[in-house]
Amino acid sequence: MDDLVQPRIGSDAVLQTLDALGEVGGELLAHKVLEAAGLRHVLDQKLQEMVPQNLFLALVRAIEDTLPRSQVDLVAVSSGRKNGSVLLEQYIPDMAQKLLHTLPPHVAGPLLLQALEKHSWTFAGSAKVHYEAGPPLQLVIENNPMAVWGCLWQCALLETVFRGLISADARVWHMACCADHRPSCVYMIEI
Ligand SMILES: [Zn+2]
Repeated sequence: MDDLVQPRIGSDAVLQTLDALGEVGGELLAHKVLEAAGLRHVLDQKLQEMVPQNLFLALVRAIEDTLPRSQVDLVAVSSGRKNGSVLLEQYIPDMAQKLLHTLPPHVAGPLLLQALEKHSWTFAGSAKVHYEAGPPLQLVIENNPMAVWGCLWQCALLETVFRGLISADARVWHMACCADHRPSCVYMIEI
């Protein structure tokens, strides 16, 4: 497929996963994984803001093929948290963050989901994303092409964003998953 028409995702999905991989297994292992996946070139180029989804998925598959399950899960969660922090820093303006901090959680929660829906390309790529203001609060990713790692990655990302802005005790429950042949990945957020 032409590189320009491929479905794309924010490049931080790749960059933060590489960072997490380096932390869990060391730089040498990160290089070995990339080599095995034929992705060595990723280290030699400056990625644009968005990259083909397949690049991220190839990296995920290479990590799954190389690391033991426990380390795969560590990388997924760590990368999800890092991506959540990037989303907070780069895509939720300071003014909006201050406003969300001052509002009660049941009001701020749906507003945050609205912002996440707008920036869903960073964590859901080309998938259609919508939310339910609830209660319960829910984020839905239809036909999620990134339904990998049991969605630990996306759960950790959402939890980081909600803990940072809405409630330190926020928890995310993955209620349905495209990896289990469901039509959508459904994430319920408890605040
Ligand atoms: Zn899922």
